[in-house]
Amino acid sequence: MDQRYWLTRAADFAASWAEQFGPVQPHASHQVSDDQFGVVFEQFTKRLENNYPFFHPRYAGQMVKPPHPAAIVGYLTAMQFNPNNHAQEGGPATTEMERECVAALAEMVGFDPHVGHLTTSGTMANLEALYVARQLHPGKGIAFSSECHYTHERMCHVLGIQGHRLPVDAVGRVDLDAVEHVLHTGRVGTIVATTGTTGLGAVDQVHEIVALARNYGARVHVDAAYGGFYSILGRAALEIDPRPWRAIASCDSVAVDPHKHGLQPYGCGAVLFADPRAGKHLSHDSPYTYFTDSQLHLGEISLECSRAGASAAALWLTLQLLPLTPSGFGAILAANRRAAVTWASAISASSELSLYQQPELDIVTYFPSDTHMSTVDARSDALLRAGMAAEDDPVYLSLLRTDGSAFRRRHPQVVQDTDSARVLRSVLMKPESEAYVDTLHARVEELAARV
Ligand SMILES: *Cc1c(COP(=O)(O)O)cnc(C)c1O
Repeated sequence: MDQRYWLTRAADFAASWAEQFGPVQPHASHQVSDDQFGVVFEQFTKRLENNYPFFHPRYAGQMVKPPHPAAIVGYLTAMQFNPNNHAQEGGPATTEMERECVAALAEMVGFDPHVGHLTTSGTMANLEALYVARQLHPGKGIAFSSECHYTHERMCHVLGIQGHRLPVDAVGRVDLDAVEHVLHTGRVGTIVATTGTTGLGAVDQVHEIVALARNYGARVHVDAAYGGFYSILGRAALEIDPRPWRAIASCDSVAVDPHKHGLQPYGCGAVLFADPRAGKHLSHDSPYTYFTDSQLHLGEISLECSRAGASAAALWLTLQLLPLTPSGFGAILAANRRAAVTWASAISASSELSLYQQPELDIVTYFPSDTHMSTVDARSDALLRAGMAAEDDPVYLSLLRTDGSAFRRRHPQVVQDTDSARVLRSVLMKPESEAYVDTLHARVEELAARV
């Protein structure tokens, strides 16, 4: 699609929609001339040049990529009216769109029925899920793995709940004996399972965790902020082990971030609950909102008040064109994963590089082959810097700090002479990476030989 054309259509639409209400003379206090604007815009774009090329497959670092053109057009079109999805009357059209998007996300993870809404982030989605967890099991703690997102420990502090950090197994999944042990103490009301850890992309064994939790009357919250969209492949048993993904359907809540794999601009997370009654823990009775509609308001079941209706608009437009099916979004995820798996085998066959661990989803972790962890650490850092500093053929990677004993478990031949070692990490979340893997590998190998 031609994004420029559709952005013009978006501006035309907003102007002609506004016309029906009659002209409004812009107030003098808002007036700026095109000359003034031109000067500032020049400075503004100059400053924005200082950015990494997230769109390009030579950017193979953090979990970030640009939104789909449909999301950009959807966001900007709706944003001109600035709808606020805190309540139906803040944005009737975008509230409808949000309900439909949430239903689509719920279907993607297997929740039927459900209650939920979009949030500004995965952090907020997790906070809300943990808040409901606390309301349902007052006085009980929450357990999560040492590889889970740092947000859980922090949110336990915010909520005044005891957090229990559990060890992980050899591939970074929460250790099931530790889950059972902590449940047995009776001090934990909810287990957090992560389907796709932020560091390694490890997928906790949700199917085992649910079974254990049910034995002890505990709940399960799934942090699928990063990995959630892989449910499309997982539930269809395409390429990845279906068991954890299918088991999400029997969990209690899920956090998923459309602003990670969902092609959305930042400001779009989602929280979903399997039991619609969860909404009652968030309800409030405010004297100034919620008068125009008898349906349950999204604002009534959310900790946040104002939320961008434009986020719902962007996601809605995207999902009409790229549905959450194996042939829609699934094709993107499958290409990401093929890129990761292909690169992982090239790294395994390389003498310059070593694979830290086999990728489960689309995160590849690797390091310059060496005899000692301290040199692995220093050379990973040097490689990252050399890649970014290269004038003609830059590559952008990221670093992951690994625990020395976790490293030794995977690579016993490397001498452990430090407590932790940084390795390289590439999130290949763009399908364009698949065609670029050979180029990327050759370049990273070349850099590894040099550092
Ligand atoms: C990114 C991420 C989060 C935090 O989400 P934000 O949208 O960045 O706030 C939480 N959990 C996991 C597993 C993540 O990958």
